[in-house]
Amino acid sequence: MVNSVDVPLGKLKFAIIPVTSMHQNCTLWWDDISFEGAIVDPGGDLDYVKSVVLKARMRPRKILLTHGHIDHAGGARELQEAFDIDIEGPHIDDAFLLKGLTRQEPKLGQPVRDVTSGHWLHDGDTVYVAGHPFEVRHCPGHTPGSVVYISHKHKLIIMGDVMMRGRIGSTDLPYGDRDALIESIKSKILPLGDDYSFICGHGGGSSLGAERTANPDLAV
Ligand SMILES: [Zn+2]
Ligand SMILES: [Zn+2]
Repeated sequence: MVNSVDVPLGKLKFAIIPVTSMHQNCTLWWDDISFEGAIVDPGGDLDYVKSVVLKARMRPRKILLTHGHIDHAGGARELQEAFDIDIEGPHIDDAFLLKGLTRQEPKLGQPVRDVTSGHWLHDGDTVYVAGHPFEVRHCPGHTPGSVVYISHKHKLIIMGDVMMRGRIGSTDLPYGDRDALIESIKSKILPLGDDYSFICGHGGGSSLGAERTANPDLAV
């Protein structure tokens, strides 16, 4: 089920598409004049993703990845070939995860291929979606190479699995590091300000203000 299609943010629009049995939020972002855009975290259910791309009349120009987990990146290689586009992100510290996607658990019951990013990202980089800038921040902890993408103009963060509504990202998978994740959130995310909202990897989004005051994982 598509949560939201054609949500306007000025000239930038986005759609949230939960995919795979993990209900991972793949998102589409596109400019409403050029219709060029990016697909973020295509973890699977690619026929469904492609149908929403068609419905939105979007022209994918790149794939952005937040981190190297199978539910976020399992369909990236297939989609890269289908649209003949590049993959950008995450940070190179997740390269080993992406190269071993086919060995990752849990199996999601659909085709998965290993991935090599064409452009690893660094803290402070800017990526562009049809000319709309998103700042990259490297936020290790959920995985070593997790990144978030921030639109300062819209005060909106593509959070991946760094933080969810009401909890921080999980750190019980291999290479998770709870202390590092809390440090990432406190030093790289919360200082953006309470009025920033976010879309996260699973479930509904939230605002930094709500999480700062009510997220039990962030209580000092
Ligand atoms: Zn994850
Ligand atoms: Zn996830």
